[in-house]
Amino acid sequence: MTDLGDGTRCVHGGAPSPGVGDPLHPGPVLSSTFALGTSAQTPADFYGRAGNPTWRALESAIGGLEGGECTLFASGMAAIAAVFATRGRDGTVVLPSDGYYLARALAADLGLPVRTVPTTQAHEADLDGVALVMLETPSNPGLDVCDIAAVASRAHAAGALVAVDNTTATPLGQRPLNLGADIVVASDTKAVAGHGDVVLGHVTTADAGLAARIRDARTRGGAVPGPMEVWLAHRGLGTLDLRLERQATNARTLATALRAHPAVRDVRWPGLADDPAHEVAARQMRRWNGVLRFTLRDTDAVAAFLAASRFVESATSFGGLKTSADRRERWGDAVAPGLVRLSAGCEDTADLVADVLAALDACG
Ligand code: PLP
Repeated sequence: MTDLGDGTRCVHGGAPSPGVGDPLHPGPVLSSTFALGTSAQTPADFYGRAGNPTWRALESAIGGLEGGECTLFASGMAAIAAVFATRGRDGTVVLPSDGYYLARALAADLGLPVRTVPTTQAHEADLDGVALVMLETPSNPGLDVCDIAAVASRAHAAGALVAVDNTTATPLGQRPLNLGADIVVASDTKAVAGHGDVVLGHVTTADAGLAARIRDARTRGGAVPGPMEVWLAHRGLGTLDLRLERQATNARTLATALRAHPAVRDVRWPGLADDPAHEVAARQMRRWNGVLRFTLRDTDAVAAFLAASRFVESATSFGGLKTSADRRERWGDAVAPGLVRLSAGCEDTADLVADVLAALDACG
């Protein structure tokens, strides 16, 4: 499959050719328990917390795209928790100070020794005593990027593993394992499932020993996904290539239009040629996505913008079919009160841009 294009891989990944009379579109396997028979050998499927054919199908599709062995989890946070639990050795965990806030909160809850570093300075982090460097690039919500290969070569020299939260980039947008990272972790609640109806996450690594530890952590910790959610996410993955293309077109057009609007400042989208993140992003990312951010005057201006828009839903997720926007300070991110993370959906570009500009005019 690796020689095929993104669309073909999304449509066919994890879907072996059916035999005659087999369903072309098999449904989810919901059984929690499987027939053991009388042989002493345990079959691949025996109990729903340890494994499931519906999981394996999506794991094969995502693992194929990312170049490693994928393990699905009940959520992106469950996936991050598994990475923390299986880090190579005891030691400090380096986390982005400007990344998804719950990763930092979880590390604090677990009592892990943590050092935080802004995404743009990850390549010069102090690595003394560090077991794991976790990157998030592009970061959420700031959309800064860091050079994964540069961080990985320093981290490996210091004996640390590197994990990359690839949620914003998606498996089509960035292949961290090819850039030297040891682990990819992501929330598939976002663009992979893509329709706002699933909570799911995964971890991928090309290290067989680490993959086995991560799988064991799932079986023992029990943070397993429901087969129905996995099946829905696999269906979503089938159109990721198409959705990403429209979302990126919408994001580019919106970012350009927003820059010219007097009510807007600090527009960031790494795909813009003069964005501060562009040079590194263009080097290590395969394609762009629909997530951008900008800043309005204050909280009231954001509320007025959202109230005036017809298509921009006020919602805290991204990567979905519908365009949505989230004022990130409300969640405690250290950003300006008027900072909006906008996830461009799959609406027609002209409709979306006209709506956003009209809503900005209305917010004064
Ligand atoms: N990583 C990033 C970058 C996220 O934005 C999120 C959720 O917003 C997560 C991880 C957590 O994923 P989930 O909500 O699926 O647990």
